[in-house]
Amino acid sequence: MSSTVNEAGNEHVADVIVVGGGNAAFTAAHAAAVRGRKVLLLEKAPQELFGGNSYYTAGATRIAHNGIDDLRDFIEYDDRHAVSEVPPYSAAEYAADLVKVTEGRNDPELTEVLVNEAAPGLRWLQGLGLKYRLMYERQAYEREDGSYLFWGGLHVGNVGGGEGLMADHVAVAEKLGTEVRYGQDVFDLILEGGAVKGVKVRAEDGSVQELRAESVVLGAGGFESNPEMRRKHLGEGWENAKIRGTAFNNGDMITAGLAAGAAKGGDWGTCHSVQWDAFTAKNESNRELTNRLTRQSYPLGIIVNNRGERFLDEGEDFRNYTYAKYGKVILQQPDSIAYQIFDATLRPMLRTEEYDMPGISVESADTVEELAAKIGVDPAALAKTITDYNESIDTSKPFDPNVKDGRAANTVPRKSNWGHPLVTGPYYAYGVTCGITFTFGGLKSDTHGRVLDEAGEHLPGLYVCGEMLGGLFSANYPGGSGLAAGVVFGRRAGTLA
Ligand SMILES: Cc1cc2nc3c(=O)[nH]c(=O)nc-3n(C[C@H](O)[C@H](O)[C@H](O)COP(=O)(O)OP(=O)(O)OC[C@H]3O[C@@H](n4cnc5c(N)ncnc54)[C@H](O)[C@@H]3O)c2cc1C
Repeated sequence: MSSTVNEAGNEHVADVIVVGGGNAAFTAAHAAAVRGRKVLLLEKAPQELFGGNSYYTAGATRIAHNGIDDLRDFIEYDDRHAVSEVPPYSAAEYAADLVKVTEGRNDPELTEVLVNEAAPGLRWLQGLGLKYRLMYERQAYEREDGSYLFWGGLHVGNVGGGEGLMADHVAVAEKLGTEVRYGQDVFDLILEGGAVKGVKVRAEDGSVQELRAESVVLGAGGFESNPEMRRKHLGEGWENAKIRGTAFNNGDMITAGLAAGAAKGGDWGTCHSVQWDAFTAKNESNRELTNRLTRQSYPLGIIVNNRGERFLDEGEDFRNYTYAKYGKVILQQPDSIAYQIFDATLRPMLRTEEYDMPGISVESADTVEELAAKIGVDPAALAKTITDYNESIDTSKPFDPNVKDGRAANTVPRKSNWGHPLVTGPYYAYGVTCGITFTFGGLKSDTHGRVLDEAGEHLPGLYVCGEMLGGLFSANYPGGSGLAAGVVFGRRAGTLA
């Protein structure tokens, strides 16, 4: 890429520098490139570790839509479409879900843009070369008549999951002429006359360069991979959480943005965290197993701590609306460990990609007492918990995992849906701990990704998107909104930059 000299005599390597190489950054790069801007994307990880957290995802992306007929124009054809029911999911429902799970702490303006532009954003990306499909294996259970009912407002995902998503992004960037450099640790912003003029970069060989451009778009992730920042902002104990995704999201660009005058945005004290395989050997930043280390079928069974006690409502809502807040609850249990318990009747209903993971942390036994002994839990305590649970289930209602069936277990704590007595051996215990996904606090911006200072003024030349943009989420999160937010605000930032 040839460089240009601007009026001040400074050399521009590009019109737009994008920092980071995940879904949000690549989306921003495409939006700038299709406008004819010269784009340089700088990614800290070496090429073989490309893709940020986005690589580790299932590719699940939450969009508003009007049912399956509305989706057909951009999802890949599947024979099962003819026997599938995909309930419409409106922008108003999407917004209401954000309000519900964050208890109203979501920024209303960012929310409005997200819920209205996620679907057009996916169609636009599909037009550029990304591929989408209905997620049968994650978001629908097959019914007895062979049909499928999708649930939980989350239906569409990338072909090939996160790996497919990022491979497609890289291919689109190449097609659009975006230059991508890996192994580029951007450690500071060039600030002149109150405006951002470029970035300072350390390459893998230790050499430092100043790279200038008209605009800089930050899509460099949160601070989830940084134990000190986690402990400082999320609290004591968070330094022990397992990192689910990339090891490179250390918050460096958030720190640099604040130093340049950006205001903090969003909730810095909470994050997205889930139940995660506790004992398997390599349970952090694992690029082979990626999302398979997560354990998301807990609404069907019960979860106990290592005292054999239940401590949360496994069936409070569909998994999409509770999974991101339950990692924290596991972290707070003794030794930050818990066990998901199922019986032989439930076992075939567990998500295959997760519960058939090679090397999974699981024990099984023909009786509850034997199972307890194997996981080091007092057998009498576990047997009492399971007996109480079984006896408290309202069996007057049919068990149906496709809907909130109201089949509650009226014990303490209550389980609001999907009560199913654990009575058929063998029994299974899956060891889980807390896996951190991403942090919710970041930089403050307007709805176009323009970074704001404490006075609410634009910080000229600086844009933000993805996990780095704070304000959408707090304490909890509706599944599939992270990738959607990256698409929407990446596209908006790249369109202006
Ligand atoms: C296991 C797992 C599963 C998930 N599943 C889903 C899902 O199915 N659906 C969903 O919506 N969300 C999911 N998420 C959340 C999702 O990953 C994020 O919301 C989203 O990918 C964030 O995109 P991003 O581009 O902001 O960040 P990232 O994809 O993390 O990209 C940030 C990039 O910035 C780079 N970087 C950091 N610092 C620097 C620096 N100083 N200089 C240069 N580059 C830097 C990093 O190396 C990284 O590549 C999942 C996350 C994980 C970990």
